[in-house]
Amino acid sequence: MKKDLTAAASGLMPAVFFGHGSPMHALGDDIYTQTWQALGRQLPRPQAILMVSAHWTTHGTQVTAMAQPRTIHDFGGFPQALFDMRYWAPGSPALAQRVQQVLAPLTVGLDHDWGFDHGAWAVLGKAYPEADIPVVQLSLDLSQPPSYHFALGQKLALLRREGIMIAGSGNVVHNLRRLAPGAAAHDWAQRFNERVRRHLAGARFRELADFAQWGDDARLAVPTVEHYLPLLYVLGAASPGERAEIAVDGIEMGSLSMLTAVVGAAA
Ligand code: ZN
Repeated sequence: MKKDLTAAASGLMPAVFFGHGSPMHALGDDIYTQTWQALGRQLPRPQAILMVSAHWTTHGTQVTAMAQPRTIHDFGGFPQALFDMRYWAPGSPALAQRVQQVLAPLTVGLDHDWGFDHGAWAVLGKAYPEADIPVVQLSLDLSQPPSYHFALGQKLALLRREGIMIAGSGNVVHNLRRLAPGAAAHDWAQRFNERVRRHLAGARFRELADFAQWGDDARLAVPTVEHYLPLLYVLGAASPGERAEIAVDGIEMGSLSMLTAVVGAAA
């Protein structure tokens, strides 16, 4: 990440896409977690965070509306230390209602059951370890096409003027069936990741909603859409002329892209 992220010259809160990868990063200390920590220290402090995680998929759109969300351990086969982790950030019923207003006439349900899934807390636990910034999660309506998710990001963009950080947590490339621990990145994973990078560099964000037209590489890199879609919210929230800067990148276990990108950081 380049030097000065301390002030967004535009007055817009930056929007961040976190490539979260394995839940084990929550216990780790590596280039990815260090980057998330640095972002938390260097970006302007948000009033609240609106998080779109790959791990909350629904039919219809929901927003968490409880004052104190629980920590959800939505994985299996990991060390007890990971199940013992809690993220104590408060929720924000007010932001949940604001999201309803901003997305109207779309019906957004107020949820009192979900909480923070690991897509949210594994990265926010690094970026904001004090857990003193309210966090609201927005679900992914998997009945809708990618262009819909990009359009929701566009509508949510105005929250950036109100000090709200639009955050996404997923992975540009995410194929658990093709995991190859210890191996180099699959060729198709590298090509797909590189193609996304070129789009980010050229600020061709809307085209990233059309990734399914990219043939076999896309079918392998994005076999299911839930880890890819959070990126479209972050990019949809970009203003004309804004760039997306890659904070860190790398492909783990052959088929997980760890690309993290920031929209609206001061250059
Ligand atoms: Zn995940």
